[in-house]
Amino acid sequence: MWFSKSQDEVLRELNVDLSVGLSSEEAKLRLEKYGQNKLKGKPKKSIFSLFLEQLQDMLIYVLLGATAITIAIGEYADAIIILLVVILNAVIGVVQEYKAEKAIEALQKMTTPKCLVRRDGEVKEITSEELVPGDIVIIDAGRYIPADLRLIDSANLQIEESALTGESVPVNKNANDIYEDPKTPIGDRSNMAFMSTLATYGRGEGVVVSTAMETEIGKIAKILDEDDDEMTPLQKRLDELGRTLGFLAIGVCALIFVIALFQKRDLFEMFLTAISLAVAAIPEGLAAIVAIVLALGVTRMSKINAIVKKLPAVETLGSVNIICSDKTGTLTQNKMTVVKYYTFNNLKDLPANETNFSANEDETQLIKSFVLCSDATYENGQSTGDPTEVALVVMGDRFKITKKELNGKHKRAGENPFDSDRKLMSTLNVEGSKYRVHTKGAIDNILNISTKALVDGKIVPLTEDMKAKYLEVAEEMSNNALRVLGVAFKDVDSIIEPEEMEKDLTVIGFVGMIDPPRIEVKDSIREAKQAGITPVMITGDHRNTAAAIAKELGIAESLDQCITGAEIDKLTDEEFSEKINNYRVFARVSPEHKVKIVRAFKAKGNIVSMTGDGVNDAPSLKYADIGVAMGITGTDVSKGASDMILTDDNFTTIVHAIEEGRNIYANIKKAVVFLLSCNLGEIISIFASILFYWPVPLLPTQILWMNLITDSLPAISLGVDPGDKDVMKKKPRDPKQSFFAEGAGTRAIIGGCLIGALTLLAFYFGLSEHGYSLGSKNIPEDVLTYARTMAFVVIAASQLFYSLSMRNFTKSIFKVGLFSNMYLIGAIIVGLLLQFVVITVPFLASAFSVHNLSIRDWTIVIAFSLIPLIVNEIIKALTRPA
Ligand code: ADP
Ligand code: MG
Repeated sequence: MWFSKSQDEVLRELNVDLSVGLSSEEAKLRLEKYGQNKLKGKPKKSIFSLFLEQLQDMLIYVLLGATAITIAIGEYADAIIILLVVILNAVIGVVQEYKAEKAIEALQKMTTPKCLVRRDGEVKEITSEELVPGDIVIIDAGRYIPADLRLIDSANLQIEESALTGESVPVNKNANDIYEDPKTPIGDRSNMAFMSTLATYGRGEGVVVSTAMETEIGKIAKILDEDDDEMTPLQKRLDELGRTLGFLAIGVCALIFVIALFQKRDLFEMFLTAISLAVAAIPEGLAAIVAIVLALGVTRMSKINAIVKKLPAVETLGSVNIICSDKTGTLTQNKMTVVKYYTFNNLKDLPANETNFSANEDETQLIKSFVLCSDATYENGQSTGDPTEVALVVMGDRFKITKKELNGKHKRAGENPFDSDRKLMSTLNVEGSKYRVHTKGAIDNILNISTKALVDGKIVPLTEDMKAKYLEVAEEMSNNALRVLGVAFKDVDSIIEPEEMEKDLTVIGFVGMIDPPRIEVKDSIREAKQAGITPVMITGDHRNTAAAIAKELGIAESLDQCITGAEIDKLTDEEFSEKINNYRVFARVSPEHKVKIVRAFKAKGNIVSMTGDGVNDAPSLKYADIGVAMGITGTDVSKGASDMILTDDNFTTIVHAIEEGRNIYANIKKAVVFLLSCNLGEIISIFASILFYWPVPLLPTQILWMNLITDSLPAISLGVDPGDKDVMKKKPRDPKQSFFAEGAGTRAIIGGCLIGALTLLAFYFGLSEHGYSLGSKNIPEDVLTYARTMAFVVIAASQLFYSLSMRNFTKSIFKVGLFSNMYLIGAIIVGLLLQFVVITVPFLASAFSVHNLSIRDWTIVIAFSLIPLIVNEIIKALTRPA
């Protein structure tokens, strides 16, 4: 039992040196031996079973039954066509589903947790799947534990083990504990850390003792089989709509059959017609189209650095009207540089390109405390760690007070890690034969816990006047957008607990560091505002620093638009939400305030996106309509709680994602309206002909074939339509707005009626060419075939052309650019070509019972087919706002 052994024993047994870790070769060997460190998920569906699933549909059964009958009565051509259509349909379905699934899978890969390991003597980040027994893993707050570990070292480490024990209160860990009793329950093994649990506080190091299915969680991994095929709200709504319309279509088809029965038409042919029409007209593809458009859209978004974890987020993105963004790293570059430093009555600049600094006694202590109280490293121009701390270590380097040297002389004996509630961090380091506490953090908080000050090498009591003086200088720096960080220390005789560190300190001074805004953010903020979206800054930093940067970026105009966490605490929830729309900057806030802010914005009817990176940000990320986690600086917890991850931590990416979200929604709308127009057109042409005792303009096989050409490729091509440049000039979409608002429904109806009417007209035209009309009795089969061919081409071609007009509901097709969606152009050409082939290749023509058309006929049918497109373009022109 690993928990019953000492650290040395464990390391020896696993054959690894703590300070070096495994070598890359050894890790590779062990990976081969032990396999990848991942839990077995549910088995993937094979292509074949996907294919079979496509066939499991009532209508398909009926169609297959019909095929059997057609074979029985010797109509082999019909049977083959129907079978072909059924198979092609299923293949298209499989391809769609497969593509969608692949896209989602690729995204999931991007979000698999990474972990820090020591290998070849260096700390590196690898994906958790590559971990092997013997690896030395570094744990810090916010990370998932990637495998079962025996802890070797721990500093205030707390781990939340609810995934394993169900207990949601984090437990304290101590690497030095040893449990003799082999029956010690999992929850009590404080020298172990288990896979899938979560470090919430402190730091630690451990050696991997088991991976994958050998871990404690692996032993109970059945729980991972949960199905998470969730549908987005839009998918659900469209699914319902599809079902309603589907029943309607079935009703109409049944009606057609019944009427035909009374009219004494050929029963079997009418049965086939009704079934084919039902197959063609039932909009079962709606949800599927949405799924594939979403999946493709999400893949596209991942290329612009936004990983969408939950599909519903794509829809919500289009409605976002408030972006709450962290300041540091998201709006700014997170490249901190110390430019000023202050000890009492002594303000100095730290010019960027000067060397050879010398520091007086106070300044030396200031730098020493800052450097010792940092986890960052900086050696030979290479840095690791929190940029704020890197700036401090770099500052030390410039004064020749290096981290390496200090660490050697003053070993760390304890610490109280930084958290964004306290806004402080402390370490306890060896100082001669005793110890010294070094505390750094927000200057106001430092002054609050200090009772003395270091002035000219002497420790003097900290008076109110002195405090005011410190604050005055700090305020001045903040006004110039500098981030101010204070530092204090105290000497103690022995090692003390973390809780004892941050009291009764001696303040030394502070530094001011710049963090330049990201260059591209200013434009994005302008774009967001134009799109009816209000960007809001949220930061733990000082109010004046925040306001100065907010002003520079165009987020806020004046200090009145700023509120601090302390001021928020004084307001009731109601008062706060009353005022919330006036604020643009929330400064000195802690993670709980973020929840309050989201709640207040939501109470005012806003759709809010909120960014976060820390462990404590999870609640606000969950609560926001769109929780956005940082890909680089974010903790696993924040990523887990988010709907979207920014791989570049950049504010601009949020705005781009919103733009994509709006475009994806628009594309779904285009595809759906198009599909509904087409289906309506098909129903109208058949139903009218039955109702008025006319011959049916299309044969069953023709209906099935035409549906295949028009429903699949053009609809998907509309779904991947390139974005409209002007989407970001509109207001956000009201999430309650109906899918058919803004004339989309009317357009579907007009389009459908036109397509249906023109099909009948073409049919009539074909008959009248030979001197017959729709009402004529005993029309020769030859004439019927000719007229049907006209109708067959018109119904397919008019839908294909009409799709062009669907690309934009207000702009003309030329404004949008006729060739700006080559997929759609391709789909139209392929469709027309297939129609051409079916009509001209003799054996196909006879199988489909169609006629070869002359050039003149083709000109006529194409002219007919263009009408729905032209009419829709005229409607657009007339209704377009000037
Ligand atoms: P931000 O919103 O700018 O990311 P943080 O929550 O990171 O704010 O920090 C809030 C405040 O906490 C900072 O203004 C600074 O005073 C203090 N602080 C930040 N990082 C550290 C650190 N590593 N050690 C001590 N104090 C810190
Ligand atoms: Mg921060």
